[in-house]
Amino acid sequence: MKRVRFAPSPTGSLHVGNALSAVANRAFGDWMLLRIDDTDPERNVPGGEDAILADLAWLGVEWDEGPVRQSERSARYTEAGRELGDRFDGITLLREDGSATYHLASVVDDVDFGITHVIRGNDHRPNEQLHRRLTQALGATPPEFIHHGLILGEDGRKLSKRTPGATVASLREQGIPAAAVRRYLEELGLPKHDVHYDLPRIRRLAIEAIAEMPDAELAEAAEAPVGLVPVLRGARDLNEARELARQVLEPEPVQLPAEARPTLERFKELREGASNGLDHDAARELVRELKAVGGDLKTLRLALTGRDRGPELAALLEALPKDEALRRADAAL
Ligand code: GLU
Repeated sequence: MKRVRFAPSPTGSLHVGNALSAVANRAFGDWMLLRIDDTDPERNVPGGEDAILADLAWLGVEWDEGPVRQSERSARYTEAGRELGDRFDGITLLREDGSATYHLASVVDDVDFGITHVIRGNDHRPNEQLHRRLTQALGATPPEFIHHGLILGEDGRKLSKRTPGATVASLREQGIPAAAVRRYLEELGLPKHDVHYDLPRIRRLAIEAIAEMPDAELAEAAEAPVGLVPVLRGARDLNEARELARQVLEPEPVQLPAEARPTLERFKELREGASNGLDHDAARELVRELKAVGGDLKTLRLALTGRDRGPELAALLEALPKDEALRRADAAL
């Protein structure tokens, strides 16, 4: 059985590189510990742990034990530190205040929780030898170490957490569905070398994820009634979906000039004559017929939404109940 751990420091929403570690550990391990590495008070951010838990829940990454906080295991580290001495290989294990450093706490935990595989970013490769020796000094067998490439910015440097899209929270705020982020990270797998962050790829995956979402899930994610799904399907991300929904649910009031009348009268006739609910083909057929009799589609859009841009017209007709579409056409005249 492969026992792995994901061990973020509670510095707030996960950097995509950390999210990669989480997803890779989950994919690799049979059993996963979630450990919160909070031994360095300078790196602890208030609410940092909650943000990480929220990110993992959003990504759908589950763990088997934890969260275990290192701050709650200090007695154990002190005991191990006494066994090994304050320093080991020239490295400090216990600080002057008696608290454990990352190296000691991490190795003690990996031993105590029976971790068989340590999967983490390349930036920890320099720690591997020290961690092996510390493990052996504690009388245990070192785990296997797998260091994966980091996710770098366009400039080839570590992606700053402030870059848009660099944290899980910022992807969520940009309306990227969780499935798209998860798929991107799964595609990366365990990169041997550092990789450049590919936000355009995530955006393409977002379009696919939206196409694959069941109606009810899409409606919920866009905070819209399920009847609006035809409109939502045209969105490239969930923010856009919310905006399209808003455009339909909250039309701008309009007064159209007299030239609009023939188009709207024809539309009303066609809509009256069609069934209550329109499926996509019927809605497209109606748009085609309106155009064929000289109707101006821009005018219809304006009448129905008060805007000259927005959702695809056929999708709009599919989503608007018949009486509401007729009411809006009347009100615009
Ligand atoms: N808290 C460390 C980090 O986030 C964990 C490193 C490790 O996996 O050992 O970089």
